[in-house]
Amino acid sequence: MPEDRNRALLELLISVSREVAAALDLRTVLQRLLYAAIQNVGGERGSIVVLDDLGRPVDATIVYGKRLHEHTTQQLRETVERGLAGWVVQHRKPALVPDTSKDERWLRRADDAAEKSGAKSAICVPLLARERLVGVLTLVHSVPNAFNEEHLELMRAIADQASVAVLNARLYTEAQRTARVMSALAEGAAAINTSLEMPDVWRRILNQTMQALQVETVALALIDGTDSNLIFLAAAGHNSGNIPGRNIPKGDGLAGSVIRDRHGVVVPNVRQDKRYSDVDRFGGIEMRAVAIAPIQTQGKVIGVLEAINPISGAFDPDAMLVMTGLGSLAGTTIQNAQFLEKLQKAHERYRELFEDSVDPILITDWEGSVLEANRQAVALSGYTTEQLHSLSIDQLHEVNWNKAGLEFEELKESDTCSYESVLHKSNGGTVPVEVHARRVEFEESDSLQWIFRDITERKELDALRDDMTAMIYHDLRSPLGNIVSSIDMLNGMLPNDESVQTMLGIAANSTGRIQRLVNSLLDINRLESGQKIADQKAVEPGALISEAIRDVEPGAIGRHQKIVKRLNEKYPLIWVDVDMIHRVLINLLENAIKFTPTDGRIEIGAQTNDEFVKIWVRDDGPGIHPADQVRIFDKFTRVRGKDKPGGLGVGLAFCKLAVQGHGGKIWVESEMNKGTTFWLTLPAARKKQTGKLKRHTGKLELEE
Ligand code: ADP
Repeated sequence: MPEDRNRALLELLISVSREVAAALDLRTVLQRLLYAAIQNVGGERGSIVVLDDLGRPVDATIVYGKRLHEHTTQQLRETVERGLAGWVVQHRKPALVPDTSKDERWLRRADDAAEKSGAKSAICVPLLARERLVGVLTLVHSVPNAFNEEHLELMRAIADQASVAVLNARLYTEAQRTARVMSALAEGAAAINTSLEMPDVWRRILNQTMQALQVETVALALIDGTDSNLIFLAAAGHNSGNIPGRNIPKGDGLAGSVIRDRHGVVVPNVRQDKRYSDVDRFGGIEMRAVAIAPIQTQGKVIGVLEAINPISGAFDPDAMLVMTGLGSLAGTTIQNAQFLEKLQKAHERYRELFEDSVDPILITDWEGSVLEANRQAVALSGYTTEQLHSLSIDQLHEVNWNKAGLEFEELKESDTCSYESVLHKSNGGTVPVEVHARRVEFEESDSLQWIFRDITERKELDALRDDMTAMIYHDLRSPLGNIVSSIDMLNGMLPNDESVQTMLGIAANSTGRIQRLVNSLLDINRLESGQKIADQKAVEPGALISEAIRDVEPGAIGRHQKIVKRLNEKYPLIWVDVDMIHRVLINLLENAIKFTPTDGRIEIGAQTNDEFVKIWVRDDGPGIHPADQVRIFDKFTRVRGKDKPGGLGVGLAFCKLAVQGHGGKIWVESEMNKGTTFWLTLPAARKKQTGKLKRHTGKLELEE
């Protein structure tokens, strides 16, 4: 009776689609489907296993007669990996098993034994929705040969009808779960971020965790910076009072493993979990189930979040997802709060430094209006704080617009802009200042900081030195010239008596020294003001060196020192102001003599590359500390310390200006306790002709 069959089939399909169309909840859809199948096809029990897109079982419904049967995920996995359902999943084909005892595909269980229910018959069909495998539907009858091809046909029809409904219900359930997690996290984010005060942040994180997971107790721990132990900082809920302050040694317990694995855990039953240890226990709380998630920020785990004992007895399947989300949220917020704390401390520190600075400091906006002034600024300017607030920076001092930019635009880019200027005081007076301007963040706004260093003393000292130099020039040089020529004349007039000559020699030597010093001071003045060296001649470097040795030799002999001349090449003539370079060499040699111990040895030598002649002066004195090696070429610099011979500190400054004035370089190489070598380069002359060196009223000259 094919017509009857068709009719019955049609009725069945209509009833199945009606049953499942009304429901969206996955469980309800599955149950209705199974009842409809058992009713229309037959069999005592049946099951539907729902699979996700990767073929993993996500849910199932098992029915024995009219009763729903509890199942575990493990059981589901077994069903679809092995057994009849497994075969159907793999082959995506329906299977009819008239006698389970004779079919290889049947996974034999305890109740399949002959003395129990024994051989059965079964039908299993895949649920395929638009080419996607969404599950398997199985029916079992307690006796063999209860099912035939016709039943299989029916099951196929049901499966076709049901699979789309199952897929829809699955997707709906998934979407709902995602929505639940999202809304828990969104709520968490909104609530947690409302404050950045640290204890507040902790409290909010805990509240959100408690609400989202519906647990009795929650706790938060961060990794300590010094020993990497885990320290519980906050907790909330049932008996949470004992938790804060607890310290878990690095890596211990469940919490330790969460940090190590960077992955959360949900332990539904702590008593059965081997990883759970004493350190995870909290006094006063009987821990039954716990979920622990890492608190992380920028890929780094900084602590853990714990949710203890769900009120319903068991954690939702989403618990891990929600906890992980809350953990990252907490990480970001805690880090922001930590940054804020640091920033606030930095602000406070800046305030302190600002007020306590020995230098006057003003803060202005980008228009130049004064926003803040420290104590020193008030003291130096003579204005009150209120008066300063009504002034602009260019009323207070002469801004170097070239350096700062007409709208301070140079300060936007460069680090610091420094220049010398004068500060206008309230009483009309001025103070010379060194200005350091730079962009700063002050009280959370983009501002400019102006430091005014009072340089009155330095300016006075500079003026004094200039006066001194002028005085030396006018009041010493001319009388000295007279003395030198008088000694020269006396030399010719007095009898050639040995003691008289010795006396005259000493007088000539000493006046020579004074004259050299005076001339060097004058040269410094000229060279510093940018004057060029005018009187350059071609001279033999060896001859110049010999003349310098002649002048300093008496001093070396007095200290039993040996001056060794090391000239072993043929050198080009050098193009120099003869007297000036003569004094340079004397300066270096005299320093060497001064710093070399008695009986020591001093060397002077030269090398050449034909463009330059490089002269060096070496001693085995105490050496010069690396920090002083650049400084010693500055004017009036002497390295202080006991046992240091005195001096004016102009010698090397003169040498540097003189050598650089010739287009050469001067530098020092020295190691403590290993002696010192000064190097200088002088340009080779184009001429090949030179003359004889001679002295004239104390100066060295070249006779061409
Ligand atoms: P001064 O008139 O003090 O000698 P200089 O300018 O010639 O002035 O030298 C500056 C400083 O450099 C000296 O005070 C000394 O400390 C250091 N100095 C110069 N030459 C030597 C050297 N050969 N060995 C050690 N220290 C030296």
